[in-house]
Amino acid sequence: MSIDFLYPEFEVVRNMDRCITCRVCERQCANEVHAYNERLDKMVSDESKCVNCQRCVSLCPTRALKIVKSDCKLRENANWQNDGIREIYKQANSGGVLLSSMGNPKELPVYWDRMLINASQVTNPSIDPLREPMETRVFLGKKNVKPERDESGNLICKVPPQLELDLPVMFSAMSYGSISYNAHASLARAATEMGTYYNTGEGGLHEDFYQYGPNTIVQVASGRFGVHEEYLAAGAAIEIKIGQGAKPGIGGHLPGSKIVGDVSRTRMIPEGSDAISPAPHHDIYSIEDLRQLVYSLKEATEYKKPVIVKVAAVHNIAAIASGIARSGADIIAIDGIRGGTGAAPTRIRDNVGIPIELALAAVDQRLRDERIRNNVSLVVGGSIRSAADIVKAIALGADACYIATGALLALGCHLCRTCQTGKCNWGIATQRPELVKRLNPDIGSRRLINLLTAWKHEIKEMMGGMGINSIEALRGNRLMLRGVGLTEKELEILGISHAGE
Ligand code: SF4
Ligand code: SF4
Repeated sequence: MSIDFLYPEFEVVRNMDRCITCRVCERQCANEVHAYNERLDKMVSDESKCVNCQRCVSLCPTRALKIVKSDCKLRENANWQNDGIREIYKQANSGGVLLSSMGNPKELPVYWDRMLINASQVTNPSIDPLREPMETRVFLGKKNVKPERDESGNLICKVPPQLELDLPVMFSAMSYGSISYNAHASLARAATEMGTYYNTGEGGLHEDFYQYGPNTIVQVASGRFGVHEEYLAAGAAIEIKIGQGAKPGIGGHLPGSKIVGDVSRTRMIPEGSDAISPAPHHDIYSIEDLRQLVYSLKEATEYKKPVIVKVAAVHNIAAIASGIARSGADIIAIDGIRGGTGAAPTRIRDNVGIPIELALAAVDQRLRDERIRNNVSLVVGGSIRSAADIVKAIALGADACYIATGALLALGCHLCRTCQTGKCNWGIATQRPELVKRLNPDIGSRRLINLLTAWKHEIKEMMGGMGINSIEALRGNRLMLRGVGLTEKELEILGISHAGE
């Protein structure tokens, strides 16, 4: 028996003087919040279904609607807060694991906001990025540390396979299935135009997107959905996904309701079957096993493509990264605890892992100490929100950043955090055809291109302000950062001084 004790989380405020009963809100809401009541001759709302996606608010032609967070709260105390009590009620109703989407909403420290960037004054001139060349291009992959010569003493100029990025940002893994065809099309086109990469996630590569292969990273996850020879050959790089920041230590689950049509064909699994990727790769129990998979993938692609190993930021990430760097991988991708997801158990998302800033600083330092930093490139993700976060990440030691939630916001996501239901009113995290078509890939890709173009300008401005004219010169340059309001220990791990020092 299910008893719902809960007052709705959001309230629909409809200004009846403005409402013209056009029923746009009713047609636009996949959650069926709005309805026209003939007897009353007016619009009514079922607020218990509202997820505050703001679709109706945005499209109401008379601005008659507002969605507000309800101020009706349960009786809280310092120990039992509203959200905690609501979760108990929900589990007492369902008997199930709580599921969530998007990133960790808890008030964990965001270290990006506690680090400030330097600027040149008087003695070391800044650079005007509008008038002077500024290099934002980066190459990801193993760098030759020692020059090699042939038998005649000539330098051998053979560099291991690299990814070339026009700016240090890539779109992170989001599978076709968790997001829509049109969302993937937008990401693929924008990555191609901006000289960067998007990532298939673990859902395989739709045949229509093979044309974007040179700007595609193809992922191999534990479920191996949609992985075959042509798939590996199509991508510019291959990413082995061991873990992701929103759900370290567990696998993935795309419900059967989303495994329809092309999603099922692309994943190579029957329609309606749940796509469950196991927590571990069943052939990897050690760095030696990982090495075997890295080299199997290199062998399968004639050693022409860099291999990325993606892991979640966890407590001993520095030691793990050291192992990965020795496994033959070319790039390590690390995803922090604030990273997004299409669906994750709430307890895992909110409690497992560590912030990306601390993980990045610890990994970069460890690889430097072990003199293997140039064996790999480092890519970090897990809530990169702006060009400033990117500049700080690079100064802390990253070669490039992954963004996902930021990219979805550019596509129109309103962070309602209900991707797991498949009813995304913005046409992003859904497979329902009538919703998918709400996202126009021409507009979507243009908005992503605009976002990356704006960030590229901002990165150049911040670099110029520091008197630095290339990403390469900024990478690992922690002198360009100062901490504010951080403890001695935090400063020590981040490897930066406090502001004023
Ligand atoms: S979209 Fe706006 S004007 Fe139209 S019915 Fe809904 S609230 Fe009224
Ligand atoms: S992608 Fe869609 S469902 Fe997911 S948070 Fe954004 S708007 Fe909501």
